[in-house]
Parts: sequence; structure tokens; C-alpha cells
Amino acid sequence: MRLQRVQVPEFRVLKNVDITFEKAFVPNIFPIGSQNGGGKSTLLQLIFVLLHCSKNPERHVFLQNMLYEFTINKDCVNRTVATIEIWTGVKVVKLKFLSYKDSALIQIIPNLEFVTSTLFKGLLVNTENQVSGVKLHCKNSALDKELTADLVVDASGRNSQLPKFLEEIGYQAPETTIINSFLGYSTCWYEVPDEFCASWKALLVAAKPPDSLRGGILYPVEANRWAITLAGMSKDYPPTDADSFLKFARSLRSPIIYDAIKNAKPISPVYGYRRTENCRRHYEKLSRLPDGIVAIGDAVCAFNPIYGQGMTTGAASALELSRCLKEQFKNSPCNVKGFTLKFQKQLAKILQTPWLMATGEDFRYETTEGGKADKITQLMQMYIDKILELSVSDSDISKRFAEVAHMIKTPNSLFALPVLYKVLRSSLKFRTLEAP
Ligand SMILES: Cc1cc2nc3c(=O)[nH]c(=O)nc-3n(C[C@H](O)[C@H](O)[C@H](O)COP(=O)(O)OP(=O)(O)OC[C@H]3O[C@@H](n4cnc5c(N)ncnc54)[C@H](O)[C@@H]3O)c2cc1C
Repeated sequence: MRLQRVQVPEFRVLKNVDITFEKAFVPNIFPIGSQNGGGKSTLLQLIFVLLHCSKNPERHVFLQNMLYEFTINKDCVNRTVATIEIWTGVKVVKLKFLSYKDSALIQIIPNLEFVTSTLFKGLLVNTENQVSGVKLHCKNSALDKELTADLVVDASGRNSQLPKFLEEIGYQAPETTIINSFLGYSTCWYEVPDEFCASWKALLVAAKPPDSLRGGILYPVEANRWAITLAGMSKDYPPTDADSFLKFARSLRSPIIYDAIKNAKPISPVYGYRRTENCRRHYEKLSRLPDGIVAIGDAVCAFNPIYGQGMTTGAASALELSRCLKEQFKNSPCNVKGFTLKFQKQLAKILQTPWLMATGEDFRYETTEGGKADKITQLMQMYIDKILELSVSDSDISKRFAEVAHMIKTPNSLFALPVLYKVLRSSLKFRTLEAP
């Protein structure tokens, strides 16, 4: 671990400091603050106190002393003290230290309180059997507590216990759909070789079932590194040791990733991950749900992470919750009557597209459990194959595909007339070439 970069806009004699410490750092004289080259001890003190004292409440007094007279503009709620980048040996962690006016956070969210090391272990109900709070278990004190609430939001992820908690208070658990393509992936970080030069920035070698069940991605990452992820479907899991990882890379449909990394230095262990089933809990299909509780995020719909949709969908769901609550409270503030089912139905609409995208891809594999591709999905798969093929040479299609994959645009963008035309033209050309 080492310090990589320090930026200080203004602190005592320091002004516009921006120092990068290269790996082979040679101490030298550099004027950072006052004109005579002073300021180094101020900088040292600043870095040391920020890193050493920020996380420990008992040392906050030293921070307060150091920030004495570090005033915040009347019109602002905060001011940047410093930005420190640290190279951990695997990745760069960027820490931004802000000084807030005492009252600022409370002004932003006055009733915010973080309760840590505490497990949500059941629901409280009122006399009408509606949810009125949660049962908690504090891990440190081993004590059980209760917390009342107008609305409980279950965002406890893929392993959510909400179905069980609902049954405990006399409601039905939701129907659950699990679609599992038994995909596994492994990731390793490499240092880009000094002399490396190529015409590409990133690489994607897609699997092509049924012949090839293996794929890989190479991403450039800051500080001259590559993150390489290799994936195998239908339990053809990539290994988690460095030598076998390389061999797996060589076995892809194209050796381009292998060629790039064969002489590069791995700078991390190989991390493996196999829990990739798509899991959807259909709260929207229940005829009865108690008021006072909603579920969002992976707790409702967890995707195969290889498609990178979970966080975007979670954020979109949170925005939808905010919008629905505003609408609900328009006429009757804080009244959550009838809200739960209404929200879960609304959420289901948002989840439908990413769900079809992820499961549609996973249905390509014969061994996928939990369902089969219907005719429309099969047509979509063929269409996407064409899109991928064209995206290699057509920058507009490539951009559209990336935008849809990253959920910036809806899949409709891939069916716009110019794209349809190119897909049809390419399919017809292909057929003409194939004809005897
Ligand atoms: C390996 C991997 C790679 C991924 N890559 C991407 C990606 O590139 N892009 C992308 O968009 N998404 C990705 N995802 C998916 C993304 O991480 C999830 O969709 C997202 O984190 C879901 O957010 P969440 O808040 O719903 O649940 P989580 O992030 O799972 O958070 C749930 C939290 O609840 C806590 N919790 C659980 N049970 C209890 C309890 N009983 N009491 C109290 N707390 C509890 C957990 O400790 C956890 O902190 C990836 C997921 C994995 C596993």
C-alpha cells in the first residue's frame, strides 16, 4: 500500500497542491506552499491526521484542532480539505475529506440515524395486522430490540428473509422464479507491460453456444492496469489459480486476451464467483400484502451479475419508490394505506426489461434450469447475435448496444429503423452468400 496522489485546494500555507507519488518515488525538494518551499510539514501533518484520526471517534479532537480556523464559506455547507489517493496493491482508493458545518448533515437529513451491526430478524404488526416496525438483533450486545416505523423498506439483498417474515405474521410468501445458467467467473488484475502497444482499448470475447461456452473481458483500469474476467457457462467454471487462469484464457474463441496477458504480470489473486442465478420474488402477484412494508433491490430481483444490471436497477427502483411515495402522500401525508401492493406492481414493470435481458441471454444454454426460451426470446437472441456481429465494424450499432447493455437507453434503441435496416441487409447478404 502506498500514497499515490494528494490534492489540497487550500489549507494554511498550502495552495493548489497536486502531488503524484510515482512507484519509484525519489524524495526531492518541491515547493508546495509558501514561496520559499515551506509547507511540507503542514502537508505531512494534514495527511497523517486525516488518515490516522478520521475513522476513530476518540481521535476526532485532533482533527478539530487541525481544522481550527478552516472556515467554510457562508453560502456553502462544506469545503474540501484534501483528496488522497492510495494504491492498495490491487486498486486505487480515492478518499475525499470534506469539512462540514456542524449543522450541515442534520440540515440535509435531520432524522437520519445509522444503526450498525444489527440484524433485521422479523416484522412488528399492529392490531390490524399491518407492519408497524421491525424486530432487530444487535450483534455486539446480543440484545433484541424493536424499532417502530411508518414504512419499512427491505433492501437486504439476495438473501432477504422477507418471505419467511411475511409467513410468520400470517401472509403468503411470494412465488419465486429462479433461472440458473450455472455461469461462473474469475477475475484477475494485471500490470500492463511497459512496452505494450495495441490498436484496442478494451476487449470482449463473447461465448457462442453451443460450440463455445467460454468468454472473457479485458478492461483497462487506472494506474496502468487491466482487469481480466473470464467466464464459463453450464458449469464450465474458470479456475482460480494463476496458471490455469492463463490456460483458460487461451481456450477462448479468440486468443486476443491470452496474447495480451501472457507476458503481463498478475498483481492480484484470481477471484472466483459462482452464485449467478437470476432470482425474482413476485410480490406483485400476491393478492394480499400488509401495509407498511416494501421490498426493493436484490431482495426482489437479483440478476446474474455478469450482465452488470443490479446496481442500476436498484437505483432506478429507489427513484421509483421516491416518486410513488410523493404521489401517495400528495393528498394524505404519511398515509401508507394500500401503498405496498401498488408499489410492488409498479416496481415489477421496471424490473421486466432487465429481467428479460438477463434471462434471455441465460436461456441460450441447454443446461439452464428454471425455464426455456420461447419463440420471441429465440428471435431476440438471433437479432442480438446480428447486432453483436455488426457492432464490430459499425460504430453507431456498437454505441447503441453499449448504451442498452449499460441501461442508459431502452432496448427500443436497437430496433430503430436505421438499425433494423442494417440488420436486414446484413442477414440478406449472408443468405445470398450461403445460397448454392
Ligand atoms: C460478484 C458481483 C458482481 C457484481 N457486479 C455488478 C456490476 O458490475 N454492475 C451492477 O450494476 N451490479 C453488479 N452486481 C450486482 C449488485 O452488486 C447488486 O445488484 C446490488 O448490490 C444490490 O443492492 P441491494 O442494496 O439490493 O443489496 P446488497 O448490495 O446485497 O445489500 C444488502 C445489504 O443488506 C444487509 N443485510 C442482509 N440481510 C440483513 C439482515 N437480516 N439485517 C440487516 N442487514 C442485512 C447485507 O449485509 C447488505 O449490506 C454484482 C454482484 C455481485 C455479487
